Amino acid sequence: MIRARRARIVATLGPASQGPDRVLALAEAGVDVFRLNFSHGAHSDHAAALEAVRAAEAVIERPLAALADLQGPKFRLGEFKGDKATIEPGQHFRLDLDPAPGDSERVCMPHPELFAALSPGAELLLDDGKVRLKVSDCGAASANTVVIQGNALSDHKGIALPGAVIPLPALTPKDRDDLAFALRIGVDWVALSFVQRAADMAELRRLVLGRAAVLAKIEKPAALKDLAAILDQCDGVMVARGDLGVELEPEEVPVAQKTIVRAARNRGLPVIIATQMLDSMTSSPAPTRAEASDVANAVYEGADALMMSAETAVGLYPIEATAMMSKIIQRVERDPNWPGLMDAEHGRVEDEDADALVAAARRAAESGSTACLAVFTTTGVTALRLARERPLQPVLALTSDIRVARRLALVWGLEPRLAEQPKGLDHLTKGAASLAFDLGLTPPNGRVLILAGTPFGSPGAANLLRLAHAPPR
Ligand code: PGA
Ligand code: MN
Repeated sequence: MIRARRARIVATLGPASQGPDRVLALAEAGVDVFRLNFSHGAHSDHAAALEAVRAAEAVIERPLAALADLQGPKFRLGEFKGDKATIEPGQHFRLDLDPAPGDSERVCMPHPELFAALSPGAELLLDDGKVRLKVSDCGAASANTVVIQGNALSDHKGIALPGAVIPLPALTPKDRDDLAFALRIGVDWVALSFVQRAADMAELRRLVLGRAAVLAKIEKPAALKDLAAILDQCDGVMVARGDLGVELEPEEVPVAQKTIVRAARNRGLPVIIATQMLDSMTSSPAPTRAEASDVANAVYEGADALMMSAETAVGLYPIEATAMMSKIIQRVERDPNWPGLMDAEHGRVEDEDADALVAAARRAAESGSTACLAVFTTTGVTALRLARERPLQPVLALTSDIRVARRLALVWGLEPRLAEQPKGLDHLTKGAASLAFDLGLTPPNGRVLILAGTPFGSPGAANLLRLAHAPPR
């Protein structure tokens, strides 16, 4: 199966999308990458989900990726008497380490690290910002606050401390356990939530040891400040607008999105736009016009992939939402203005041999009647450099490593396929041209531009650009 679009679709699996039949239906409707959300579900659920993804891949004959999303340090309140309490603006409210159920005067905040990071004047956001507290005085085990914005609170609501870098290890004990499990079952990508600094990603990378590609979820203002250093440690990045939007003012989120997409595209790192893209389709069969526009905007920005969360995990219309996302993407990619708008975000060509060749391939493809590009990639790097150029022809990304093929399923415009290691230049040329023809990427006699690095199979920059033609029929 060939995707008739360049931007990719990520879907979160959950109760609404469990089981081999539903996973296959999602893949057929357009999902390229399946997110296993380790904030929910048991290990056995994730193992079953991965099995379903691999089974769907065998049916649709196109590599599909599985992305394990680690929960990261998410802070939560303790419990209330009778499960809830209401606090009013102007009143005092106390946070402490006492596990006794709370009321409208105090509640347990079972995180000594948070008390250590507080200072008078600091603001705390509870329940995704629905409640705001200002710290008046604080110590190692308690804090007195004034309520700026009040609301009803219930057990285990989330806590955010905007802007602060909390002195915490990158991965919680649960994350370490989940990571070991995810690597054992063989996921393709691992994402880390609430990344605060580059060292967090370096730690993840050290634990993963190349067994999966690693992705940073940017959802903390601190991470935005340290973006360049974080990207140095990543294979991909996610604009996690849900949690990012809790700590940032709403008007800051689109600006942050543009900044992250631009930085990622400059480096040739795949970037995912996440959260609320088609949120209303969680309970309605059609999106709002604003949501359609949001999806379209991400495509015009040249994002690699667009993600669904509740829409596919717990929504009533997971297949319809996927089909809708796919339709909006395809419509934008037919707009004659799309390439120009997308190129406005294009990074500079770096002064490297590989980029020079990749840029030349794109130019050669533009100037003639080229039907498609093909790249033989051992580690995926050359395919990523080519995708960075955003060529308008389809790109067949050939690799002999199924893990590389699956990782590339997240990347803009690539059609990854397994192929044997070329035995020589003619073997590569014939193989690539006839596969492109069999997949319908080129008409008979169509021109195929082939990019590779020799010697074949040794990782390194591409150093060869070859013009070939598809078989006569
Ligand atoms: P989540 O991450 O769905 O795991 O919270 C995405 C986001 O915060 O936008
Ligand atoms: Mn999040």
